[in-house]
Formats: sequence, C-alpha cells, structure tokens
Amino acid sequence: MKSYRKELWFNVPTRRAFINITPQVNECLKESEITDGLLLCNAMHITASVFINDNESGLHQDYERWLEELAPHEPVSQYLHNRTGEDNGDAHLKRQVMGREVVVAITDGRLDFGPWEQIFYGEFDGGRRKRVLVKIIGK
Ligand code: ZN
Repeated sequence: MKSYRKELWFNVPTRRAFINITPQVNECLKESEITDGLLLCNAMHITASVFINDNESGLHQDYERWLEELAPHEPVSQYLHNRTGEDNGDAHLKRQVMGREVVVAITDGRLDFGPWEQIFYGEFDGGRRKRVLVKIIGK
C-alpha cells in the first residue's frame, strides 16, 4: 500500500470565500501515483471547510446568503465565543454547517466523482494563512 500526504496553503484576502480546489487535489493525486484507493481532504482550521458540490456561482452566492442568515458575522457581540476577544464566532458555526472534510474514491487514477461534483475550500475567517490536508492511501 502507498501513502501520500500534502498540505495545501491558502491566504484568502477577504473574510469569506469559496475556492474550487479540485485542480490542486488532482495534482496531488498525480504526484501520489496512486490509482486505486481513497483520498481524504480536510480543512486544518476550525473556521474553514472542505466540501463537495457544484461549481456554480449562483449556488455559492446562495451559500453566502444562507450562512449569513444562519450565523451573521455582525454584530460580533451576539456570540459568547467572542468574549474571548475574538470576532469569529460566526465562522466556527459556518464551518460546522459546511463540514470539515471530504473522502473521494480513487478509481483508475482519477477522482471518482458523481456528476458535477467538485471539491471546494470554504473560508469563513480569512486574511491569514491556513492549510488543507490531502491524504491518499491505496495502490
Ligand atoms: Zn474563534
């Protein structure tokens, strides 16, 4: 069995963003030389997500609006978490809703996606360097 590990770094200038990271993950898969197995991709920070969905800008705007309705950033004083002096209480909640990680089957050397599936990094507290872990095991 082969094993591969890589950290992808992001520094999103805005507080929130959705980034299609499928090309970077595909690059990892190529590097790994694994053709049959499982790929795990997870955000390494508790205010960011990795999730799978459609690469469609309207959907991403819908996520943004929906998440702001569920957990508005302002006023930051509404979150008990922010009594620690932070201002990212909303980002923790948004990450929980959008998820920590995805697992994708590797078949014949490619990501074995369903129709329209792509992998996204969801940033909810940007403006600093953050990491995503890619781990692949297989043969
Ligand atoms: Zn926090």
